[in-house]
Amino acid sequence: MSAGGHPAATGTTTALPTGGADAAGVPWPSTARRRDDGELEVGGVGVGDLAAEHGTPAYVLDEADFRARARAYRQAFEAAFEQVGAGVDVYYAGKALLTVAVARWAAQEGLRVDTASGGELAVALRAGVPGAAIGLHGNNKSDEEILAALDAGVGRIIVDSRVEIDRVAGLAAARGVVAPVMLRVTTGVHAGGHEYISTAHEDQKFGLSVTAGDDDGTSPALAALEAIVARPELELLGIHSHIGSQILDPSGFEAAARVVLRLRADLAERTGVVVEEVDLGGGYGIAYLPTDEALEPAPVARDVAEAVAAVCTELSMPLPRFSIEPGRAIVGPAGITLYTVGTVKPVTVSGSSADDETFTRLYVSVDGGMSDNIRPALYGADYHAELVGRSSDAAKVLARVVGKHCESGDIVVHEVVLPSDVRAGDLLAVAATGAYGRSMASNYNALTRPPVVAAADGASRVLVRRETVEDLLALDLG
Ligand SMILES: *Cc1c(COP(=O)(O)O)cnc(C)c1O
Repeated sequence: MSAGGHPAATGTTTALPTGGADAAGVPWPSTARRRDDGELEVGGVGVGDLAAEHGTPAYVLDEADFRARARAYRQAFEAAFEQVGAGVDVYYAGKALLTVAVARWAAQEGLRVDTASGGELAVALRAGVPGAAIGLHGNNKSDEEILAALDAGVGRIIVDSRVEIDRVAGLAAARGVVAPVMLRVTTGVHAGGHEYISTAHEDQKFGLSVTAGDDDGTSPALAALEAIVARPELELLGIHSHIGSQILDPSGFEAAARVVLRLRADLAERTGVVVEEVDLGGGYGIAYLPTDEALEPAPVARDVAEAVAAVCTELSMPLPRFSIEPGRAIVGPAGITLYTVGTVKPVTVSGSSADDETFTRLYVSVDGGMSDNIRPALYGADYHAELVGRSSDAAKVLARVVGKHCESGDIVVHEVVLPSDVRAGDLLAVAATGAYGRSMASNYNALTRPPVVAAADGASRVLVRRETVEDLLALDLG
């Protein structure tokens, strides 16, 4: 990993936990290791015991790994911003995976919690996260959500449109409070893996543009900031930008910071108001495959802190208080999904042209699929899977792991090499499914959503229980 010309991080605290003892570089959680008989364990608990106790499919979270990543991000950004003389807050982006226990872990590790709906807000509050340490996002917040945020005394509501300025101001007035708000802007900086998860380009629903301008050059973002300043029911804390997700090239963060800081200076010039805070959102990329390299927080933090300091000097502006909102980078690598193999079917694939060779692909069906991990179908996301209940000396074959849904696109892992003796009853795990797995899960085909199980110190505990068919029928009023 390039450190951008900086010396290596000193001490181990700001480094991410390294993967479990897997020489092949598989991005298992950090406490994962293979026992002598080939069985994988996480948090000191064997996958055989996890499956026996909790059933499959199951999301298994390595609590120590989650906590270590949360600390690594907080400490890396605190250290880097302390170097330039600015404060920083790290918000855990709850949409990646939010349960009461997970929100508590984040808070205990010194993170705040970012929510994007009334439901996520309720989970964070149930966890005991103080309102002041919670942010509320969303491009279409309901009145109920805004009121719930005001009543909880959230630290910030991130306003996403002009109409929302009036709505939040009106509801704050009705409650007799001043609402702390940030404005979400789009900087024109493109970053991230997939078009649907790249959010700072212009032609999408989030935020207000910094770059588009009206006749006198006033951007929608600047006009909206001025409108917020003019509302006594609103306290403008600062400016927010989230440029995308699964970002592996950190230069986008610096570019976005420059645009946001210039906007902050423009606002100061126009109104005399110097906003205190700048948030650069989340999007820090992780390793999904053994060949992937995750973004390390320390070098990114240093580069961004130095860029922020340099731009503020250049603009003769005071340093802002800075914040970031990593989600995937905290919880993604901490989670695996444990499945049981069912039908195994060799499929002969004939070449599409005379030059293409005919080959056989082994279709390995598991007891879950696109209902517990929609990312392969939604984004073409790649994952890595292995047999984890035993070792095998059988020859390796080209396999595709598929789910049990009524769609040929119900693919869990597009292409992976598995032992040829893979058979019904084998345990199979997919790595790095902690983020956007359970949180995007559905009940397609009336499958019940798997439990979230935490493993730590040789014991496992259910954080969210498995849904039952009775749960589904309870919603159906017939
Ligand atoms: C999705 C999102 C995040 C978290 O993104 P990750 O890629 O999980 O780090 C943070 N902030 C906002 C506003 C988001 O929409």
